[in-house]
Amino acid sequence: MESTERILVHACCASCSSYVLEYLLEKYDVTAYYYNPNIQPEAEYRLRLGDVRTVCGRLGIPLIEGPEELEEWNAAIAPYAHLPEKSERCRVCYRLSLEKTAGMAAEAGIGLFTTTLSVSPHKIHAWIVEEGRASGEKYGVIFLEEDFKKKGGFHESCRKSREHGLTRQDAGGCLFSLEEARLRRKGPDSGR
Ligand code: SF4
Repeated sequence: MESTERILVHACCASCSSYVLEYLLEKYDVTAYYYNPNIQPEAEYRLRLGDVRTVCGRLGIPLIEGPEELEEWNAAIAPYAHLPEKSERCRVCYRLSLEKTAGMAAEAGIGLFTTTLSVSPHKIHAWIVEEGRASGEKYGVIFLEEDFKKKGGFHESCRKSREHGLTRQDAGGCLFSLEEARLRRKGPDSGR
């Protein structure tokens, strides 16, 4: 029997989404939400959006495409721009996506929401949960706190990415993370 409980799923990119959306389809009536002003440059933003459209089309899932809001994201992150990955910079970034998704869920009359962010081992799950709860309280919707990387979720998402020819990056998506990845590739003495 098909589930009638609806959930809005913030989809950060196709490679994380393909596994999480399929997994959630077993329990929920899923709608995906693409809201990723952190993804830069523009060409990468468009590429990921195109891939998410393809994944949603394949799974038969409706996709809501959020506003780009690059300037708003840059302004909100600017005070933390000097900080490294996994710092307050990333926490604020999670908050922006989760607040927007919670607001969209409330607007669409969907009582439950979550994010594909937690499938990545590079994200801090405790912060995702705290920000998700706070966003849910703000908009009167419930955050599904599941850690999608558990029970082999991360490996399964990698396998599905390969199967469907989706690109996985070694960076979070923002220009800061691209620069950090570039320095990592160059070695420990780079950038100093
Ligand atoms: S590294 Fe990822 S989570 Fe951190 S600010 Fe950049 S896009 Fe956001």
